[in-house]
Amino acid sequence: MSASSRDLHAQPLTQLAAGLSRGDFSALELTQALLARIERHNGSLNAFVTVTVDEALAAAKRADADRAAGKGGVLNGLPIVHKDIFCTRDVLTTCGSRMLENFVSPYDATVVERLADAGAIMLGKSNMDEFAMGSSSETSYFGPVRNPWDTERSPGGSSGGSSAAVAARLVPAATGTDTGGSIRQPAALTGTTGLKPTYGRVSRYGMIAFASSLDQAGVITRSAGDAALLLGVMAGFDERDSTSVDRPVPDYVAGLAGSLKGVRVGVVRQHFDAGLDEHCAAAVREALAVLESQGAILTEVDLPNLDLSVPTYYVVAPAECSSNLSRFDGVRFGHRADDPEDLMDLYCRSRGEGFGAEVKRRIMTGTYVLSAGYYDAYYLKAQQVRQLISDDFRHAFADVDVIAGPTAPTPAFKLGDKTDDPVTMYLNDIYTIGANLAGLPGISVPCGFVDGLPVGLHLVGPHFAEESLLCCAHQYQQLTDWHEQCPGDYR
Ligand code: GLN
Repeated sequence: MSASSRDLHAQPLTQLAAGLSRGDFSALELTQALLARIERHNGSLNAFVTVTVDEALAAAKRADADRAAGKGGVLNGLPIVHKDIFCTRDVLTTCGSRMLENFVSPYDATVVERLADAGAIMLGKSNMDEFAMGSSSETSYFGPVRNPWDTERSPGGSSGGSSAAVAARLVPAATGTDTGGSIRQPAALTGTTGLKPTYGRVSRYGMIAFASSLDQAGVITRSAGDAALLLGVMAGFDERDSTSVDRPVPDYVAGLAGSLKGVRVGVVRQHFDAGLDEHCAAAVREALAVLESQGAILTEVDLPNLDLSVPTYYVVAPAECSSNLSRFDGVRFGHRADDPEDLMDLYCRSRGEGFGAEVKRRIMTGTYVLSAGYYDAYYLKAQQVRQLISDDFRHAFADVDVIAGPTAPTPAFKLGDKTDDPVTMYLNDIYTIGANLAGLPGISVPCGFVDGLPVGLHLVGPHFAEESLLCCAHQYQQLTDWHEQCPGDYR
């Protein structure tokens, strides 16, 4: 039987790993099958900025040789796409921006390196909102990404290329980054599983910085089980990232075997108020009932400062971005304008031409809130409210093991629907941003459909509780098949 007739694209990561180790197909066959799918479908989705055909085929041959020699890591031969925010040696890293249109990094991000060392095969780099600023993948310099469930709609953002690619079965797994929801919200809007680990769990080295105190790397996959497999490889201390935490990495795959019995699930009172689409609310409530049917204990909890999380984030994140993005000046990094008259002209035009509108809006806001005279009123105040939000979670976790609710207020919205109104776009992250402000891990798992569009259930845990979070998500996925649904045109 040929590789293509086995529908390799339909299989999730864990199943592919088993097939490879049994010798049912080779890494080369698998890679070729997926590259052919990307070739066929990327035109309609725009999920990839770069497809690394030659590198992937060479890596697949090496993986097969390693396997034949009895070598190779836990991910040997398994395909992955990296969000184009992760530096990849000798391969373009654009961050969705004209600023880095031609940037080729001389080194690999730690995440990229660890996954490659374990044998994963990079098929390419995924499209994203420019510098990860956005919730729809429409701010990309390379054009918007389309949602495979309805190509008139957004796959969420900023990791929308990753979510669309996994949802359309172009690749079984993708990396992403999450500063305010950019892994979980696109996962929710595409019917995929998205894990944002605890701040410091995964190294940020080589991940282009947006807001350093909030950014965290994670994965978008077809299931919690697949996410567990990848997290075990990515997580852990890295001396090149001073905020990475030196703490043992549990066996996340072994941890999946736990049970929901007795797990205290906090349902946030504020989550089910006016902003939430009623059909999404119904899907989430049904998911909560499934958890309860397996012995989980539902309790109401309060996050009284939830409504302050979006305004707080839109002070802290722009402040940090205005500082991080100062390095893109046409001299040290990034696009350089032609024929500058003098140094000031070089800076102004390089940045003016290199950055898009949303990035400029954030740099201006950030510069403003950090400026003398406004610092206390905005930045300092935001840091204080951030502490209150963290305290809210701490209090909630005194009584519950996990907090559950919706990932996003609505299913996927139409492309262009929110681009003229940044504030409505910002509000899409109302349920996810709190976890970033508090540094907590979160996961979104598919929990139903509204008018044919996927809905996500959001689970948040205490710091470093990835193991129990993945276990809850996995147990839920053992009882439901929402995560196995595939958009009609991509079966
Ligand atoms: N949508 C949020 C923003 O625009 C979050 C982005 C992210 O998590 N990278 O900033």
